[in-house]
Amino acid sequence: MNQKQKNNVVIIGGGISGLIAANVLKNNGIKTTVLDKGRGIGGRLATRRIRHSDEITGVFDYGMQFFTVRDATVQKWVNRWLAEGIVTEYSHQDVDPKTTYYRGVESNRSLGKYLAKDLDIHLQTRAITINKSDSGWTVATENGQSFQGDSLILTAPVPQSLTLLENSGIALPSLIKSRLEKVVYYPRITILALLEELSLIPASGWLTVDNSCLASIACNHKKGISPQGFAVTIHSTPEFSDEYLNKDDQIIAEKLFNFASSWLGSKVINYQVHRWRYSHPKTVYGEEFLAVDNSIPLILAGDAFSTKPALDLHLTLEKAVLSGIKAAEYLLS
Ligand SMILES: Cc1cc2nc3c(=O)[nH]c(=O)nc-3n(C[C@H](O)[C@H](O)[C@H](O)COP(=O)(O)OP(=O)(O)OC[C@H]3O[C@@H](n4cnc5c(N)ncnc54)[C@H](O)[C@@H]3O)c2cc1C
Repeated sequence: MNQKQKNNVVIIGGGISGLIAANVLKNNGIKTTVLDKGRGIGGRLATRRIRHSDEITGVFDYGMQFFTVRDATVQKWVNRWLAEGIVTEYSHQDVDPKTTYYRGVESNRSLGKYLAKDLDIHLQTRAITINKSDSGWTVATENGQSFQGDSLILTAPVPQSLTLLENSGIALPSLIKSRLEKVVYYPRITILALLEELSLIPASGWLTVDNSCLASIACNHKKGISPQGFAVTIHSTPEFSDEYLNKDDQIIAEKLFNFASSWLGSKVINYQVHRWRYSHPKTVYGEEFLAVDNSIPLILAGDAFSTKPALDLHLTLEKAVLSGIKAAEYLLS
């Protein structure tokens, strides 16, 4: 790889994987441009506000809830975030007491915002095609812009990256394509519910439920991120999500509120339903990143780029972080 090919890297996806890759490259003097189709940065590090009245606004972490770390390199990053006051240790009764868990202090999206703060980020910028020339990659976006990079990193969930490649007429070697097509994600239906009164969820703000419909319930007020609203995040199980993904919001809400009623203990005054088609990987690619083209680098990364699936959900974020680091280090090597 010559010097020119790593002067300017375009990264599609401003989730944690893309943001970490961008930080590693930037720290090594490489110009990066991050494109994300979302309105906010962070991807599945997702937080939303629901304003109900002048007095009541709920703040909901509705994607990643909390994470843990096994890898020493990732731990170094987390230690920096702890020292900067961006994440905090998170104790609750439902998980392994010997393990340390972390969550964002203000919210989980605030970790994404922190990682994005010195980067060139373009939100609401969906990549629709990518094109390779002798001088690098050109990304065309839905809002009519075009971005050029000597190298390109794709960090969208694998099915979305495959669609982008297909729409761009880029044929992958058949073995690689079939491995990528085998990467499958769990879906997840999440309800953001604003309650009239404080929920009955334990004081830590977290409850693993594990029945046929509900996986967990989190009280964002008890966690301390929603001081002006009793904001509860209800995650359904993958099985329920599979069955109900295309059903109406009202049908989903009735069912899940009914199952959750003994922990809610209050009237719901407002709610939104969010459908995650790609919540977290069920199967993974088998390597920490994929370099498709070495001469004009095209790299795929993200939480599905790992040697093994995460042993539990709370180890998934770490996979995304590690993949971002490895993808960037590959370009630097
Ligand atoms: C409901 C839920 C609960 C979870 N709970 C936990 C947990 O408790 N612990 C844990 O460790 N992990 C958890 N996870 C998983 C964790 O959030 C993810 O593994 C991690 O955030 C993935 O990061 P990523 O950068 O790989 O992908 P993403 O965060 O998905 O980032 C990819 C980005 O690409 C963007 N994008 C896609 N296509 C395009 C395009 N064409 N153009 C521009 N941008 C595009 C998307 O908008 C997105 O922002 C949870 C996930 C969900 C959804």
